[in-house]
Amino acid sequence: MNHLDKLESKSIHILREAYSEFKNLGMLWSIGKDSTVLLWLARKAFFGHVPIPLIHVDTHYKIPEMIEHRDRLAREWQLDMIYGENSEAIEKKLTFPDGNVTRMQCCKNLKSEALKNTLNGKWPRYRFNHDTDRYELDKNTEPYTGVIVGVRADEEGSRSKERYFSPRNVNNDWDLGDQPPEFWNQYKTDFAPGTHVRIHPLLDWTELDIWEYIERENIPMVSLYFDQGSGTRYRSLGCYPCTGAVESTARNVREIIEELKIGKFSNIAERSGRAQDKEDGGGLEELRKDGYM
Ligand code: SF4
Repeated sequence: MNHLDKLESKSIHILREAYSEFKNLGMLWSIGKDSTVLLWLARKAFFGHVPIPLIHVDTHYKIPEMIEHRDRLAREWQLDMIYGENSEAIEKKLTFPDGNVTRMQCCKNLKSEALKNTLNGKWPRYRFNHDTDRYELDKNTEPYTGVIVGVRADEEGSRSKERYFSPRNVNNDWDLGDQPPEFWNQYKTDFAPGTHVRIHPLLDWTELDIWEYIERENIPMVSLYFDQGSGTRYRSLGCYPCTGAVESTARNVREIIEELKIGKFSNIAERSGRAQDKEDGGGLEELRKDGYM
């Protein structure tokens, strides 16, 4: 087994373990490279059919191409696609781009609160109906108690403190000092009622692993990751008012791999283009304790 085979095998094992242990399981899909690799692994783990709903938190500020990519793959791969949002904050313009709150508060409103209330079923969820080709109000309001997330330990500091199976309390809060040990591939999957568990099958993957796997498997990616002639591209995707491109002429996956191998970004954090990270003390720990992805 080579390096990518080992990573793939462990991630698939965690996905299958999660599927067998959690009744109401969902998988977050941000449409970025990591969660799209996770989705690809789920297709492999379950032989082409993903038996887990894909959940997207729509901030209404995502780059439009990301939403088009989401819906194209939802159709092609017959995904059980769901989205949630903080419609009240959007209607009342309680957002940073509207100039009414800080970036931290905007992320709490549009991401953390939207995620919490989408997962617990208290706010409306919209499910893609493959017959009508539209999103419709989801009648199922059951909470998701297991949530699969494509975070990687090397992506930024707070993510390196996660477990593969990482519990959150009923309020979605994360107590870093109270997490179960995970020795010798033994995972604790049995938690007190009301606990919501985040499952992280990609914890051991690096940015280079992700791109090498995308190349090997020929996984479709949003074209925003590639230089379209401007000499820039996105290294990490998010809301357009807060996400900057990096200087790069990489036009395809192979050229991104070459850039990473020669260390072009070795002194530049992967999420350096994300302005909200800088407001959170240069990391995301405060936002993530509150439920941010
Ligand atoms: S990334 Fe920017 S626009 Fe998106 S939720 Fe955070 S502050 Fe608001």
